[in-house]
Amino acid sequence: MPRSLEGRFPTRERPTWVGHVGLQERIETAYGLLEACRLCPRRCGVNRLKGEKGFCRSGLLPIISSYGPHFGEERPLVGLRGSGTIFFTHCNLGCVFCQNYDISHGGHGREISLEQLADLMVELQEEGCHNLNFVTPTHFSAQILAALPQAIAQGLNLPLVYNCGGYESLEVLGLLEGLFDIYMPDLKFADSQIGQAYCAVPDYFEVAREALKEMHRQVGDLLMDERGIAQRGLLIRHLVLPNGLAGTQEAMEFLAHEVSRHTYVNLMDQYRPCYEASRHAPLNRRITRAEFEEALRITQQAGLYRLDGF
Ligand code: SF4
Repeated sequence: MPRSLEGRFPTRERPTWVGHVGLQERIETAYGLLEACRLCPRRCGVNRLKGEKGFCRSGLLPIISSYGPHFGEERPLVGLRGSGTIFFTHCNLGCVFCQNYDISHGGHGREISLEQLADLMVELQEEGCHNLNFVTPTHFSAQILAALPQAIAQGLNLPLVYNCGGYESLEVLGLLEGLFDIYMPDLKFADSQIGQAYCAVPDYFEVAREALKEMHRQVGDLLMDERGIAQRGLLIRHLVLPNGLAGTQEAMEFLAHEVSRHTYVNLMDQYRPCYEASRHAPLNRRITRAEFEEALRITQQAGLYRLDGF
């Protein structure tokens, strides 16, 4: 039975998007993008309104693999009661080292209606989660938008987190402006040739650079409340890869100089060979302690100082 949250935590100022004029128009625009799909920069051109599928193998309805309070995310998202994650199935990237390959490549999950998606959002709020965290949302961003009115009508007022791979369309980000409070993109590579080789995308860094700058323009640096819980802003994930494949130096200098040196960064050390990585040396090994320490040194030397866990 859902529990009342009244009085359990400080009430948040109602987000600007509650009753947002133009939400319906944004949904219609987003669904228009599905007709010859350009919901992400791959621009496959398939008609997802008719169930056709492009690179992400996703049709009209959202597919989720799981949902629930999650305590493995970054500290400002987790707090005491967890981040309310909704994991979407499939992905608009094709990373050969994906750690969730059963979901992203294998298609583990089930199709749900927009009404069910709205109900999940409200359920996670009633569970006491600090935010709603949409994991791998890019290829279902239209459907997420379309589920919001019902969730809002049922009282949804948590900060919304867009937890993505960084390969995003500026057009879609424009539709999300004022709706999503927190953007949490990966910055996977600083060299698009590496992105082509390992994520099957020709222009990763060029696209991600512009997307991250746009996200920062919309929400700014990460802001937390008095409990250290994120309320609004940009949070970057950068997974350190073997042999410097992630391009940490260029990536961190880009963040410090072209986004903000106050950017909150999770420099991740947990790389391990998954999915097809064992066939792609040097991705077939974990990183060494020295490689991570070097990445940390580079990050700090670039002027970034808000590092998760440090
Ligand atoms: S969302 Fe999927 S179908 Fe649409 S352009 Fe991206 S990869 Fe292609």
